[in-house]
Amino acid sequence: MKESTLFKNIQMVLPEGVRQGDVLVVGDKVSKIAPSLSDSADEVIADSGLTLMPGCIDTHVHFREPGATHKETIASGSKAAVSGGVTTFFDMPNNSPATITVNELHWKKQRASNSSFANYNFYIGATLDNLDELIKAENCPGIKIFMGSSTGNMLVDDQKILDDIFKYANKPIVIHSEDETMVRDNMDRYKGSTDVSDHMNIRTPEAALACTKRAVALAKKHQQRLHILHLTTAEEVDWLMNQNLPPYITVEVCIQHLLLHAPRVYEELGTFAQINPPLRSSAHADRLWHGLRQGLISSIVTDHAPHLIEEKHQPFGQAPSGMPGVETLLPLTLQFYHQKNATLNDVSRWLSGAPQRLFNIDRRGQILPGYFADFVVVDLDASWAIENKTTVSQCGWSAFDGWKVKGKPVMTFVNGQMVFREGEFFYAPGIASEVSFASSVPISA
Ligand SMILES: [Zn+2]
Repeated sequence: MKESTLFKNIQMVLPEGVRQGDVLVVGDKVSKIAPSLSDSADEVIADSGLTLMPGCIDTHVHFREPGATHKETIASGSKAAVSGGVTTFFDMPNNSPATITVNELHWKKQRASNSSFANYNFYIGATLDNLDELIKAENCPGIKIFMGSSTGNMLVDDQKILDDIFKYANKPIVIHSEDETMVRDNMDRYKGSTDVSDHMNIRTPEAALACTKRAVALAKKHQQRLHILHLTTAEEVDWLMNQNLPPYITVEVCIQHLLLHAPRVYEELGTFAQINPPLRSSAHADRLWHGLRQGLISSIVTDHAPHLIEEKHQPFGQAPSGMPGVETLLPLTLQFYHQKNATLNDVSRWLSGAPQRLFNIDRRGQILPGYFADFVVVDLDASWAIENKTTVSQCGWSAFDGWKVKGKPVMTFVNGQMVFREGEFFYAPGIASEVSFASSVPISA
């Protein structure tokens, strides 16, 4: 373990803008930031031309442990994360067994403490009868409600139960928003279809909008903190923009819903493009981008949901929904910067600053004295291709296989310690830690 690290003459993405200078890390925190520091340190990083960014915080991943460790584990998923500059992840509860009790939540935290490369925390899942567990869970980022069906069996669709959860929740509620009844009706209608693009016709914009309206009404009724996961439709963007949303209702988008569009993506990738909610037309993606630029949508996440290649190769109707993505989040988002559609500060806000504020994460997501030293060092000019064969995730594929991108994460630091450098990984127990939350007061991102 290094006691101190000095980054010399590096481009830094700071809250006030992009600056050139030095950063001294002592222990697990940032000690000083200045145009020039003369301190000595155990390690000096002085490669010119590199850019220091806050480590990314992906608040929406599925690392499959316990229960489906042939697809991914906390170790393999977090290794993929740090290879792409993600230094903190929040993992979803649809495991086997599902994370629906305090005991299961503890099990995952314990497992992560012995195997994770990145900082971590875990949502607890709502069921029809676990309100007491939801309330009891401590230092937990939020309560996940599958208001529509998705992978796993944690559907909560009953109004009385939803009312109770929204009334009594003592932590943020995060929802998968697709109306279950509408999706089921459509499933009957398209039963037997072998055309994967029917996935969009089953999981319609109307089903997403109906559920989002219902969730917003519940949150407003109980003045409850609500975070809407992976928004996908123009209809939701436009409706939410007109609602004059209170600051306690926030929204995220997945990078793939911005970048991959129907019908082409289904023609090219088949069932590998099948995710919930579905990939839709570029018209929807354009409105999502608008929602992001306007600040309706605060953060970009991955919904990293790996399945093995042979599982995804099954015909439509049998193939599971979900795609990986945690390791390509930052490289893909950097393309908006290179295309001059975003600044480095925008990228950093979407991937680090906003997630920190959305969940009140304690002292992460920005490069500031006193904050934890979670960094990604990026070679902004490096051109490379995302390829299945170099995927770090255990699933071994990416929907972005063959995409040429510019900007490569070359080093990743978690709590002041280097965990990744150009293809090499460094693990030691105790580097990564469970993130904590500053307070329960919601702050607008
Ligand atoms: Zn998800």
